[in-house]
Amino acid sequence: MKKNKKRVVIIGAGPSGLAAAYKLLKTEEDLEIIILEATKDIGGISKTVKYKGNRIDIGGHRFFTKNKEVEDFWHEVMSVQGKPAYDDKILKIEKPLVKGGPDPEKVDNVMLLRNRISRIYYMKKFFDYPVSLKLQTFKNMGLGNTIVSGCSYIKSVAVKKREDSLENFYINRFGKKLYSMFFEKYTEKLWGRHPSEIDASWGKQRVKGVSILAVLKDAFQKVFHIKSKKVETSLISQFSYPKYGPGHFYEKVAEDIKKMGGVILKEHEVEEIVCKNEKIISVKCTNKETIALDYLLSSMPIKDLIEAMNDQNMSKNIKRIATNLPYRDFITVGVLLKDFKLENKTNQKTIGNIIPDNWVYVQDPSVRMCRFQIFNNWSPYMVKDIKNHIWIGLEYVCHESDDLWVKSEKEMKKFAIDELIRMNLITKEDVIDSCMEKVKKAYPAYFDTYHELDKVIKYLNKYENLYCIGRNGQHRYNNMDHSILTGFVAADKIIKNDPDKKDLWNVNAEKEYHEAK
Ligand SMILES: Cc1cc2nc3c(=O)[nH]c(=O)nc-3n(C[C@H](O)[C@H](O)[C@H](O)COP(=O)(O)OP(=O)(O)OC[C@H]3O[C@@H](n4cnc5c(N)ncnc54)[C@H](O)[C@@H]3O)c2cc1C
Repeated sequence: MKKNKKRVVIIGAGPSGLAAAYKLLKTEEDLEIIILEATKDIGGISKTVKYKGNRIDIGGHRFFTKNKEVEDFWHEVMSVQGKPAYDDKILKIEKPLVKGGPDPEKVDNVMLLRNRISRIYYMKKFFDYPVSLKLQTFKNMGLGNTIVSGCSYIKSVAVKKREDSLENFYINRFGKKLYSMFFEKYTEKLWGRHPSEIDASWGKQRVKGVSILAVLKDAFQKVFHIKSKKVETSLISQFSYPKYGPGHFYEKVAEDIKKMGGVILKEHEVEEIVCKNEKIISVKCTNKETIALDYLLSSMPIKDLIEAMNDQNMSKNIKRIATNLPYRDFITVGVLLKDFKLENKTNQKTIGNIIPDNWVYVQDPSVRMCRFQIFNNWSPYMVKDIKNHIWIGLEYVCHESDDLWVKSEKEMKKFAIDELIRMNLITKEDVIDSCMEKVKKAYPAYFDTYHELDKVIKYLNKYENLYCIGRNGQHRYNNMDHSILTGFVAADKIIKNDPDKKDLWNVNAEKEYHEAK
């Protein structure tokens, strides 16, 4: 350890770990900062995967926040564009450019402004996401479905169900019919469980405030040009996005951290956490290195953290709860196409007139795919040959033990492409190339022992020098902004020498807004 300097070890070079390191290095000179990252990559789930000049954003990451500190951080690291991006220039799309901001055609470190378009593809038709009450929706659904949906919505307004499950949460907001058409099967694809088995708090995290009434209000405000004070994130239409995807942003943060004297050790997976008298003393990595520390910030999954702690006095109950915390794993199949059979019937202009969506929800229960991303629409710089190619990412959510997860790359790519062919979206001849990327524990899930998580939190809080941060680090469905915020709050606590963890665990627990995905 450096003389006179206290050492902070941070597990994970994802958004939360990097944000904590950045803040600590900016505000406190007397700390030594070491980030230990298990993989070769920077950015955690928010990394960008490079494949033969094309880039995959795992999940599609919008940079949107209502938190000023996070927004300032994003824009301090990467300035917002001052000149149009390639596609905006060609298509003459106007964006609120920042005076004096960088030109994305000349500079790499630049944050683009992108339009959000995302719809549901169901019964070979496009529906708004979230479903909205407009003529097109009724036309798509047909008269019979419309009448039943209307009646069941009125019923849900009159008779509220007890919100003790995700199923009841949705029914209360959308009515039984719309729930069964748009949420029931999709939720099962995503979580591998029926919505009646899932805690309502997941719904509260993701679709809070979005109901048919909220959507109607939004339509009314748009018609009469009334600005809403309260922004529902599900209805946001523009977001920031780094030129080369989210990983590009986090790689820049990592560079800044190193310039400020921080150390990032890749391929350093923490496998043991050495505890003594309710303090963390050091961590041991799989490469046998032991690193002593004064403070530990952990963004590793709580399940792994508890398994790694060598506390002889840990109760069996804490171990049981942590070991049984549920997660969902994620597979993306990148497919490079010559042609995509979906017609752009919107008034949104795109290069090659492809559909303008960033991502599309696939409702069809006969395919396993949950969504597909169209990277051309995230940033024109994500695709090597944007004029001639469509670069999409097909998303599958499963469990490590599932049939999908154990498929070889060749089998998985074939499986995904076959689904697209079955849906009549491509022919075999349209496919130029494909690749696959897997992410373990992409989604912390809200069932099984999740209900007992407070006992584990209480146990972890006994360790004064341990701070749990981020999405899996807190087992909370955090977006990047809330993950970053946990890193900032933990950094603040170290700077102020404040051992109370209450507000750290409260990030995103009581806040008003959440994102629907
Ligand atoms: C499909 C999908 C779509 C998403 N879309 C959005 C979006 O549009 N907008 C948005 O804001 N957010 C989005 N998110 C959420 C975003 O990805 C996360 O909030 C964010 O990446 C969490 O950051 P983190 O630092 O907490 O964790 P992670 O990104 O998971 O990073 C944790 C890091 O810790 C490392 N690690 C784990 N265990 C160890 C160990 N034992 N030793 C050393 N290192 C370890 C991992 O390798 C990883 O690099 C999305 C997520 C998914 C899955």
